[in-house]
Amino acid sequence: MTGMRVVVGLLVLVLAVLAGFAPIDPYVVERWYSTGIYPFVQQVMTPVSNLVPFAVLDVLAVAAFLAVIVVLVRAILLARRKRSWKPILATGARLVTASAVVYLVFLAVWGLNYRRVSMTERLVLDRSAASSQTILELGRISVEQLNKLHAAAHAEGWRTSPWREHRMRNAFSAVLLRLSDAAPAEPGRMKSSIFGPYFRWTSVDGMVNPFGLEALANPDLLPFELPFVAAHEWAHLAGYADESEASFVGFLTCIRAAPPSAYSGWLFLYWQINAEVGTGDRRQLASMLAEGPRRDIAAIAERMRKGQVPLLRDAGWRVYDQYLKANRVEEGVRSYGMVLTLLARARFEEGWLPVRHVTTE
Ligand SMILES: [Zn+2]
Repeated sequence: MTGMRVVVGLLVLVLAVLAGFAPIDPYVVERWYSTGIYPFVQQVMTPVSNLVPFAVLDVLAVAAFLAVIVVLVRAILLARRKRSWKPILATGARLVTASAVVYLVFLAVWGLNYRRVSMTERLVLDRSAASSQTILELGRISVEQLNKLHAAAHAEGWRTSPWREHRMRNAFSAVLLRLSDAAPAEPGRMKSSIFGPYFRWTSVDGMVNPFGLEALANPDLLPFELPFVAAHEWAHLAGYADESEASFVGFLTCIRAAPPSAYSGWLFLYWQINAEVGTGDRRQLASMLAEGPRRDIAAIAERMRKGQVPLLRDAGWRVYDQYLKANRVEEGVRSYGMVLTLLARARFEEGWLPVRHVTTE
């Protein structure tokens, strides 16, 4: 019995190491996983998780935490009674095996999407690099759109949550169908979580629970921020694991939807460009902003300033950087900014519809 256990444990470890380091062809992942098995998994798990208002992740996290505590305490008590280190070593080995199982489940349920065909391979690109000229032009367009949409967006308001808003859902499906032949993903309900304070302190807008395929949001998000954050998380649910790709899909979704969501999308783009251009260009863009959007942007800056704990925020983003690199995203958290490169390089048809290569096989 124990012998069998050891063999199974070793097998799991070997599998996890192989899954972590063995090279794999992105086109194989794209075909068999991201547009093959994964959409089925997502279309079952997300609707089920949408049924409950709380985060499944909270239940899983608390259960895992308690299980680890119980197992450790039992091992320590047994070790004291037997005056031997053996029970503690055995428990350590069991926890390592359990971690390997968790990692394999992570890859199977969502994580393999990190290894699918990248957006730059998927799309027809018109330019080899993003010039600062193109980025500034995008900045001007976003200012124009913010000024134009502000009144209509605020008049209609943000009363319906994004996952129930049919114009958002339609826009999301339309964008996904431009990017792959897979059946469009199911949008997720935006949930709050016991990790909410962590999001607040570290200035994280939201995340996807890779074990329950549900979307979690920062509890402090302002109403005009929520549509973009929702669409970004939905893009993750659709298997676009990479941050810049999720923002790309999220932005294109929002600007196709109703004015309140479109406003949210342009707000994101403005914010992103603002962070990346030089001081002169930043001032110029800001000077073109009308009073309304300027107020909304100041409110976002204030929300982040009040919520964040700089030390925790920096530590949190460092951990996330390591996580992304471990999942073969070489740019780490810098991959967030790559959304501008994508927007500047990709070819679009009328109405911001990206053009895909005929086949991704
Ligand atoms: Zn994300």
